[in-house]
Amino acid sequence: MTFEKTKKLANGSVIPRLGLGVWRVQDGQEVIDSVKWALETGYRLIDTAAVYKNEEGVGEGIRLSGIPREEIFVTTKLWNEDQGYESTMKAFDESLNKLGLDYVDLYLIHWPVKDKYKESWRAMEEIYESGRAKAIGLSNFHKHHVEDILADAKVRPVVDQIELHPTLSQVPLREYLKKENIAVEAWSPLGQGKSLENPVLVEMGKKYGKSAAQVIIRWHLQNDIIVIPKSVHEERIRENFDVFDFELSQEDLKVIDDLDMNERLGADPDNFNF
Ligand code: NAD
Repeated sequence: MTFEKTKKLANGSVIPRLGLGVWRVQDGQEVIDSVKWALETGYRLIDTAAVYKNEEGVGEGIRLSGIPREEIFVTTKLWNEDQGYESTMKAFDESLNKLGLDYVDLYLIHWPVKDKYKESWRAMEEIYESGRAKAIGLSNFHKHHVEDILADAKVRPVVDQIELHPTLSQVPLREYLKKENIAVEAWSPLGQGKSLENPVLVEMGKKYGKSAAQVIIRWHLQNDIIVIPKSVHEERIRENFDVFDFELSQEDLKVIDDLDMNERLGADPDNFNF
C-alpha cells in the first residue's frame, strides 16, 4: 500500500500531511527535544505560533537536527493582538527573528479578529509576495470569514487550520473548503487526548494492531486532512508517525465519522475573546 506523504497546496507549495504540533510545549529544552525527536523520526512539518512562545526553541531544534532547511516545512501564526496592517508586518518580522529563519513555509492568521483580519490579510499578501512566507492561509475561519477574504483577495489562502477531531468532524466546512481548493488542516486532531479513551477507537485499534491515536491520525489522513498531533514524549512522537503501514476500511472510516457530536473543545471562531 502506498500513501502520498505530502500534499500539493493550491499555490504549488508541497506540505507534509503529518506534522508535529507544539502548542503548550515549553520553549527551551522541551520544544528543542520534541522537534529533534520528530525530525529524527521522519516528520518534516512543525506547527508553531507566536502565541506559543516557543518559536526560538523550534528554530534551534531545526538547526540542531542538521536536516537542510528546505526539507522542513515550518508554520507559524499571527497572534490576535498583532492584527492590522503595520502590526502584522512587525509581528511577522519578530517571528522570523525568533525562529532564526529567513522564510517560513506557511504563515496563518490565527483567529478571525473582527474588523481586523482583512487588513491583516493585505499584509500577509505582501509578505507572500516578498517570498518570506512561501504560502499564506487562515486558521479558525468559518465559511463566512473565508468568503469575506476571498471577496477581494489578491492572493488566495491555501490552508484553513480548524479544530477537527472525531467528535467535531466539521463536514460542511470541509466540503466548502474543498470546493474552494483550500486545504484543511486539523488542530487538536486527537481531541487534546480525550478521543484516545473512546472505547470504539481503542477497540478498532486492537483490530489493526494499532493505538487509538494511530487510528485517529489515519482517519484524518484518509480524509485528505493535514494533521499535526502534539506530544512531548519521544515514544508517542514516534507512535504518532507510525501510521503509514495500515489502512482503515471504508466501514471503519464511517464508524469514526459517526462519532461526530459537533463538540468543540476550543472557542467558537464567531465568539472568542482573546
Ligand atoms: P492534540 O489533539 O494533538 O492532543 C495532544 C495530547 O494528546 C497530548 O498532550 C497528549 O496528552 C495526548 N497524546 C498525543 N499523542 C499521544 C499518544 N500517542 N498516546 C497517548 N496520548 C497522546 O492536541 P493539541 O496540542 O491541542 O493540537 C495539536 C496541535 O494543533 C497543537 O500543538 C498546535 O500546533 C495546533 N493547534 C492550533 C490551534 C489553532 O487555533 N490554530 C489551536 C490548538 C492547537
